[in-house]
Amino acid sequence: MVGLAKERLQTLRKDFVAGAALLDGRWISGHRRHVVVDPATGDQIADVAHCSAADMNAAIAAAERSFSAWRELLPAKRGAILRSWASLILDHAEELAVIVTSEQGKPLAEAHHEIRYGAGFLEWFAAEGERAYGETIPSHKPGSLLHVRMQPIGVAAAITPWNFPVAMITRKAGAALAAGCPIIVKPAPETPLSALAIARLAEQAGLPAGVFQVLVGDPIELSTPLLHDARVRALSFTGSTEVGRHLLQGAADTVKKVSMELGGHAPFIIFDDVDLEKAVKGAMAAKFATSGQDCLAANRFYVQKGIYRAFVEAFAAEMARLRVGHGLDPTTDIGPMTKLSVANKCRAQVDDAVKKGATVVLAHQGATAGPNFVSPTLLTEVSENMLIASEETFGPIAAALPFDTEEEVIARANASEMGLAGYVYTDSLRRALRASERLECGMVGINTASFTGPPIPFGGWKQSGLGREGSRHGLAEFMELKYVCFGDL
Ligand code: NAD
Repeated sequence: MVGLAKERLQTLRKDFVAGAALLDGRWISGHRRHVVVDPATGDQIADVAHCSAADMNAAIAAAERSFSAWRELLPAKRGAILRSWASLILDHAEELAVIVTSEQGKPLAEAHHEIRYGAGFLEWFAAEGERAYGETIPSHKPGSLLHVRMQPIGVAAAITPWNFPVAMITRKAGAALAAGCPIIVKPAPETPLSALAIARLAEQAGLPAGVFQVLVGDPIELSTPLLHDARVRALSFTGSTEVGRHLLQGAADTVKKVSMELGGHAPFIIFDDVDLEKAVKGAMAAKFATSGQDCLAANRFYVQKGIYRAFVEAFAAEMARLRVGHGLDPTTDIGPMTKLSVANKCRAQVDDAVKKGATVVLAHQGATAGPNFVSPTLLTEVSENMLIASEETFGPIAAALPFDTEEEVIARANASEMGLAGYVYTDSLRRALRASERLECGMVGINTASFTGPPIPFGGWKQSGLGREGSRHGLAEFMELKYVCFGDL
């Protein structure tokens, strides 16, 4: 299976990716080559164009040139192109999923899910672009009429991560393009093939030259022109808080509109009135999707003392069924970490927790399959002085922390610099309402671990980010408000 898929990848590379970058409607081959590896094996699977700062400057100029025609196109026409792009992505879901798994590592079924999820943003924003309504304000002056309009902000830039190499692009590009803005994408260096493959389909869907461009290369070299060029009016980033801070500082020079989707450190709170089976099912989904490399991933399992032992036992039993392996093997549940640094961070968190008194309840197969593999591990008796309780893990390590009261657990859950998502499992509606009100985060799942999708405002509080993606709020990130006063009527 893995061998066959690899052969297929070679063909796909020729059909879809062509080893180039999409700049101003042309596929350029770049000055150097950028090598892409399979994170499961370390094998080189492709190389693509490595773009320079000069290429990025040319892309910004091309985007600026394309702006007026794109913004003048009726929203319905822009929507038709986005829908056609979504259809092409879905028509090629099989091939795209192989590309995603080959460079990102996630199990093929999850790659398929990502393709559908990613296409969904294009379809949803295709319609939402037609609903960028303004306002009419009751006037404060006699004989005048007050209007507020929403207008496209201008050239947008997206710096995207490797954990969802298709969906994090379509979530940003769908909104920008529907709003009437051209967008330049700098994908993560680990996963350029997915970005270039969907760029090939964008071209087929009829996106004009300069409106959607993808340039792969050194993150600092390519982001510097994006940050400092005043023609780039909006920057949308998904990735680590550390890089987010750096980009915020850079964007301040030209006072860009920024949207930052940064790290998470989600608390997953389980009260003792809960149906244990449902809580374990939710915990599995919240921890192990994308092999734990998800900003929504549950990082701290707070379990009320009355149910703590039973939960740990049932959770460990479910975790023991997870199979670690190559994502193209259909039996795999947990693939490799896309980056060695992420795998090493997982191992360091486990070592630190054990040194400080945590117990390893489960750590099983996979550790020897290659340096990027991390065994699903359950740590119990975790306390707040351990790294895993204070920093994002981004891998298949689960930490269980016992608690006594509702008040205590909400305070502990909120004692974090992060505030992306939170989960609460309880049978009490009053408790669920109280917890959802008091948790300091942008998204809360009550008795569910699955709540994302195009219509929801995705984003965090505190150092988890700024702005929202998806939903009408996501469209607004790429628009400016204009107030117009008609006087002397
Ligand atoms: P990262 O922030 O370094 O990478 C994300 C994107 O930023 C990539 O496109 C990368 O090329 C780009 N980038 C990196 N340094 C840059 C710079 N100086 N200037 C401009 N762009 C730059 O993330 P990482 O090192 O790949 O992962 C580290 C941690 O970040 C993870 O363990 C996880 O905690 C977090 N992360 C979160 C998300 C998310 O979905 N919010 C995604 C990826 C990583």
